Amino acid sequence: MSNITTGKFSIEDLENVQVTIENIVGAIEEVEEKEEEMGVTPKPGISSLRHWDFNLLNRYEPIYTPMCDQCCYCTFGKCDLSGNKEGACGIDMKAHQAREFLLRVITGASAHTGHGRHLLHHLIEKYGRDHPIDVGPSNLKTPVMQTVTGYKPETLGDLEKVLDYVEEQITQLLATIHMGQEGEAIDFESKALHGGMLDHVGMEISDIAQISCLKMPKSDAESPLAEIGMGCIDSSKPMLLTIGHNVSGVTNIMDYIDEQSLSDDIEIAGLCCTAIDMTRYNTDEGDEPKAKVIGSLAKELKMIRSGVPDVIVVDEQCVRADILREAQKLSIPVISTNDKIMYGLKDRSSDDVDDILEDLKSGIEPGALILDFDKLGELAPRLAMDMAPIREEKGIKSLPTSEELQELTERCVHCKECELVCPTNLSISDAMSAAETGDFAPFEELHDKCIGCGRCEQVCPKDIPVLNVIEKSAQRVIREEKGTLRAGRGQVSDPEIREEGVNLVLGTTPGIIALVGCSNYPEGTKDLYRIADEMLKRNYIVVVSGCSAMDLGMYRNEDGNTLYEEYPGKFIKGNLLNVGSCVSNSHITGTAIKVASIFAQRNVTGNFEEIADYILNRVGAVGVAWGAYSQKASSIATGCNRFGIPVIVGPHGSKYRRALIGKPYEKDKWTVYDARNGEELPIPSSPEFLLSTVESVEELMPILAKNCMRPSDNNMGRMIKLTNYIELSEKYLGVMPEDWYQFVRTETDLPLTKRGDLLKKLESEHGWEIDWKKKKIISGPSMKFDVSAQPTNVKRLCKEA
Ligand code: SF4
Ligand code: SF4
Ligand code: SF4
Repeated sequence: MSNITTGKFSIEDLENVQVTIENIVGAIEEVEEKEEEMGVTPKPGISSLRHWDFNLLNRYEPIYTPMCDQCCYCTFGKCDLSGNKEGACGIDMKAHQAREFLLRVITGASAHTGHGRHLLHHLIEKYGRDHPIDVGPSNLKTPVMQTVTGYKPETLGDLEKVLDYVEEQITQLLATIHMGQEGEAIDFESKALHGGMLDHVGMEISDIAQISCLKMPKSDAESPLAEIGMGCIDSSKPMLLTIGHNVSGVTNIMDYIDEQSLSDDIEIAGLCCTAIDMTRYNTDEGDEPKAKVIGSLAKELKMIRSGVPDVIVVDEQCVRADILREAQKLSIPVISTNDKIMYGLKDRSSDDVDDILEDLKSGIEPGALILDFDKLGELAPRLAMDMAPIREEKGIKSLPTSEELQELTERCVHCKECELVCPTNLSISDAMSAAETGDFAPFEELHDKCIGCGRCEQVCPKDIPVLNVIEKSAQRVIREEKGTLRAGRGQVSDPEIREEGVNLVLGTTPGIIALVGCSNYPEGTKDLYRIADEMLKRNYIVVVSGCSAMDLGMYRNEDGNTLYEEYPGKFIKGNLLNVGSCVSNSHITGTAIKVASIFAQRNVTGNFEEIADYILNRVGAVGVAWGAYSQKASSIATGCNRFGIPVIVGPHGSKYRRALIGKPYEKDKWTVYDARNGEELPIPSSPEFLLSTVESVEELMPILAKNCMRPSDNNMGRMIKLTNYIELSEKYLGVMPEDWYQFVRTETDLPLTKRGDLLKKLESEHGWEIDWKKKKIISGPSMKFDVSAQPTNVKRLCKEA
């Protein structure tokens, strides 16, 4: 290759050219796929990536916040571990906490992998083992699988061997939870990181399989909009409500409704990820979604208590344990469709549909277990149609009448027992007082903040159904809950990475903010909207999934648009992408892998460490699980962490018991090698954590901007990121961030509009030497700017000096 150092040439004349600027390589046109060599850790076992984990854990130390100081894992115990005492088996508090965290992670990973196995069985049975994997215009179709295992699956059948690997690893990890196995916290941590990584493989299997078979959008930036919110439901029609995560059986219901032309006669809507996947089903050609979305799991009990559903179909994960009991009170039959949740119901899978229908309509049985999806497809809609008039005739009463509401609020003795147990400490007693005087505004506010758990009702000495009181009082706002959700688009495509990768790595696109996870928010759902709106206005790429994707679609701006209507869905700065349901989170790590592979041409195949190292040092991305509550949220976050992506959880996330936090003041922890010569390079303390809890949205905003900074930022990129960091800190906290100067390498890193002032501050407050004539920094920065430096944490990737 010739080395051109100076000169001019015309871009227009060139075709299919690859441009290499030092070590930054960007392919303009699709380059022919070349066979990649197998990397050094295909199908890693528990110990294979331990050195990478230790590398991470050395900088990002585990901080434990025990929820309980006892262990009751075995009959030696229970053991008091307070004050880091050892249990009868010799395990200490730290190791036990790390074990508890690992248990959560592998529980989450198993939930996704179990989902994947179930889906895959079902889809192979229906579409055959040779059904091709089709995710849209990408050569790198399964980035997570390829990076972790080295496999490149092409068909549904190929996915099975990936699944075999994940299941084997999870079994081995679960075995280490047993008493008398691992004894050191740091090794439990490494195992947790392993479990988190496996989780992303399990999720990718699930989503790739369903995208390929169920006509879901394939990297579609303009996937259609679905209606979302309790206010979207036409309660005059029979209503079929689905709850859960695994859409396989529900597609049969949707097919039946379609075939029988019942779409106008019946409302079908869902809660949680099944709902998201219902809006993806059969929409790959831009067709309108055939189902509506109620919202996140916080709406489960609220929706049932509304009395609107005529039949409830549950599958798996994040489904309340009391659905059957609650539904029974309102004569709503429950159909369980997955062996993970059977509620003690009779298995009617082999029975005649008409017989089951009669038993459920008459109320002889409160519900049925139906594992035959063809039967389910016919039964559920017919049951909803038949139940609606029956329930109406029975005069089923759900929420209290206005008179009853008055009586209930007057019954309150303001003991505040309810507030003590309320996970979000809502001011129920004050709202009761206001409601007594006819002012329902406080209750209307509580409706959004209430996560619908029902704990308050269990302790009320006056037997007040507090949740019903909230919901009845908030009828006006509930009717207005009408938003939109862009149907999950699936992966980010290879062409999108080719276009945007360079901006991301140089920092001129300031970062990816991924808002994911559950709905255990500290202050209601609107926070999600605020976070996304602020970061979108600042040109970040905002990627969303799961309950967070739903909740931010519930609000409209002054023009009456939701964020999905306001911001396009391409992988480019200032765009909002809904990748899909929880299992689509794998596309977020997948995107970062694709940047390393397609933009930087790193070999991903079986080459986990190099790719994670690339992401940690160059891809400015931060995950936010603001309402994280499930075990799955901990495994998703931990998987991101092993891939080098930091994650912030909302205040409730501290209950996961451990964080991974770096210490910016320990300078020796913030160095990497320069792969060009193996020399040590100081780097900015960003990301400064891998998993951390943040208390408020105000605190969160500047942290997001700060933790998108990476060593690879060029001057323009660093300037953009630093501008956002300073502005967000001033806007939300009212102060300049204390450490802003630590991210300055040269004067061109400084925000343009404030350059003069900031140079003065550097001189007067930090003792930096400034050449005022040239407005240049002469001395002061702890880091140099070198556009061709190759930051890496992995020594073996360095050329010898
Ligand atoms: S596993 Fe160890 S610490 Fe836990 S109860 Fe048994 S002996 Fe005690
Ligand atoms: S149902 Fe709502 S008000 Fe009652 S305890 Fe749960 S969150 Fe609090
Ligand atoms: S527990 Fe019941 S009586 Fe006591 S404050 Fe709450 S609603 Fe009122």
